[in-house]
Amino acid sequence: MAINLLILGGTTEATALGAAVASAGLSGTVSFAGRVERPKRQPLPQRVGGFGGVEGLRTYLRDNDITHVVDATHPFAAQMSSNAVRACAAENVPLIALTRAPWRAQAGDNWTHVPDIADAVAALDRTAARVMLAVGRMHLDDFAPNPQHFYLLRLVDAPSTPPAFPEHHVLVSRGPFTAQDDLALMRDHRIDLVVSKNSGGTGAYAKIEAARALGVPVIMIDRPTIPDGATVYSVADVMAWLRHDENRGV
Ligand code: NAP
Repeated sequence: MAINLLILGGTTEATALGAAVASAGLSGTVSFAGRVERPKRQPLPQRVGGFGGVEGLRTYLRDNDITHVVDATHPFAAQMSSNAVRACAAENVPLIALTRAPWRAQAGDNWTHVPDIADAVAALDRTAARVMLAVGRMHLDDFAPNPQHFYLLRLVDAPSTPPAFPEHHVLVSRGPFTAQDDLALMRDHRIDLVVSKNSGGTGAYAKIEAARALGVPVIMIDRPTIPDGATVYSVADVMAWLRHDENRGV
């Protein structure tokens, strides 16, 4: 049976997997939520927008004869990942998650772990600081209760409405970033606190390295819990999983 893959995307890993799948001559589609105005061009066909919950995804899998799903969404896209687990189980479609290992604190890091965005907001209930806020565009307004800080925001797209706190500077940039550039950026803006999701991977790690070099503390938002399932950390492992099924004629 020929493989017809659905890649749940929106990440560098999904783009890399799409390239590998296309060059292997396999059939597949990359799915985006539609949060980013100009998603990276993909070598595979793409679709944009939510499926409509678990039931919508089940319908999509059936209607499009999807044989395999790779959840290559961001580690914080917990809703989509959970929906994928449930829909694939219900439709008996094999699913694997392609993700990045979380960052681990090392010597010189000064991290305070918080479990979610709400607790990161609570941790900022303190005297005014100059904060690099690396949580993405969707969560900016959550930080409205702490307008006393200056916020440095680096976003893929400019915010559609002005952030709900007066003191801020917006940089529109997609990365990946270098530690050297982030060091200069944090010095220029006299950053004395970083708030970051524990995204893992290399593209967003520069600010963590820069914070370490400058002795700047980090409020690290730990990953949400995602239902258990098969997880791999490399495109090669996904390709091996697909080839195994292709050779078995699954
Ligand atoms: P989420 O909270 O887990 O998902 C919310 C809803 O958005 C899902 O229930 C689904 O709608 C839709 N959705 C999410 N990812 C989708 C995809 N790849 N294709 C089609 N629909 C999708 O997700 P999120 O945290 O808002 O992230 C949205 C997208 O941005 C993801 O693709 C993720 O990889 C990417 N991203 C997220 C982050 C982050 O920090 N969260 C960072 C970088 C990139 P329905 O229920 O209607 O199907």
